[in-house]
Amino acid sequence: MTDPIAEPATTNADATPETAGNTPDTGSTEPQTNGFSGMRLRPELFEALCRAGYSNPTPIQREVIPLALAGHDVIGQAQTGTGKTAAFLVPFLHHWKTLHETGASGLVLVPTRELALQVVAEARKIACDPDFAVAAIYGGQAIGPQITAIRKNTPLLVGTPGRVIDHLMRGTLRLDGLKYAVLDEADRMLDIGFRPDIEKILRRCPADRQTLLLSATMPDDVLRLAHRYQKDPKTVQITPETPTVARIRQSYVAVDEDRKLPLLLKLLQTEQPRASIIFVERKRWAENLYRDLRQTVKGVSMMHGDLPQGMRTKIMQAFRDGVIKHLVATDVVGRGIDVKNLSHVFNYDIPEDPDAYVHRIGRTGRIGADGVAIAFVSPDQGHRLTNVESFINKLLDKREVEGFEGVRPKDLPQPEAPKEQAPSQPVFGRRVKKYSNRL
Ligand code: AMP
Repeated sequence: MTDPIAEPATTNADATPETAGNTPDTGSTEPQTNGFSGMRLRPELFEALCRAGYSNPTPIQREVIPLALAGHDVIGQAQTGTGKTAAFLVPFLHHWKTLHETGASGLVLVPTRELALQVVAEARKIACDPDFAVAAIYGGQAIGPQITAIRKNTPLLVGTPGRVIDHLMRGTLRLDGLKYAVLDEADRMLDIGFRPDIEKILRRCPADRQTLLLSATMPDDVLRLAHRYQKDPKTVQITPETPTVARIRQSYVAVDEDRKLPLLLKLLQTEQPRASIIFVERKRWAENLYRDLRQTVKGVSMMHGDLPQGMRTKIMQAFRDGVIKHLVATDVVGRGIDVKNLSHVFNYDIPEDPDAYVHRIGRTGRIGADGVAIAFVSPDQGHRLTNVESFINKLLDKREVEGFEGVRPKDLPQPEAPKEQAPSQPVFGRRVKKYSNRL
């Protein structure tokens, strides 16, 4: 068997997985006119949308905004990347001045601090009034500045349920003046145990509020929540082209970065894959993992973009022939791999780009119901899991592996301790630092 490490042609200049574009398909056939104009928005808001470059509403916006402007409660099925945030923000930004008295008049509940920050950024991007303000309230951050923001009568608050409850208990937040409540990524919030907090919060809101619920999927528990806390909601469903990955048994394991190798060894032992691909993010990591694995596992090889084509072809042939059973690979190569006997895909590094995830696990889908895809999610990567789940419109099962219990991705929302915590390093800062290493 060829030893790919023997080849000298490796560099650090790893190709990174392409990231999805940030601009949703507006699905418009009328590029000349601004489709927002028919919505009779305040002129300032209309102009702000134009300035933000929103020349046409996305499908979810086209449906949700008119219904919400008319005062209806709405259930919207939509994923991240469809423009769902502006879909629920625009009606609030249109009405907020007439709604606002004292205290928050709008509250958006979101599962993670990242999403809270994204919603805040989107609101600031399309806000049109100098006196408008929005604040994020989430755990893991000092509570003092949040209290100050709330005291300033900030009209729109975006928060994670745990921290919102915390403020309610402390008496630093009152929701008596609330007119507009949004549950964003409701499925995700319920999935990780925010139901009691959400219900407590909604029970503290005035009954005559308007409630919008957005969710990538609509399982029964989301519908039950809608049934209990919304009034005759109108349903909007935007069916995106979802990849056909339904036949693959997908799960994730929450694991600390330095425990990924023992976890992989354990899974290779318990799962006994016929053949597997182990996807990693960078060439250098592929080499390191390959080195570690071949100490104890037979039939391991590696593929990445710096290996010469001739060697890649040989490795692929050996993989198809079953001589190589486990292949450590980067995305660049992963897309071209076509092996009939493949039973398992391990996302040793869950990709930033959900599209890459689908391509990776699609390698096993070729063999039908037999495909197993297991993603390793380290504490910093909860947001990647959320992106993948939104994209495939499906929640991955959390898998408990003996000896690896008790780790939860930090970015996955979890009930926050109802006490003030020391300010932590911003997650975005950590992430930027991490990815800049790769360039
Ligand atoms: P979201 O699905 O809300 O996360 O939005 C995805 C991205 O699309 C964000 O960067 C938005 O700023 C952007 N966006 C939202 N609505 C529009 C629109 N009508 N036209 C162009 N971009 C938009």
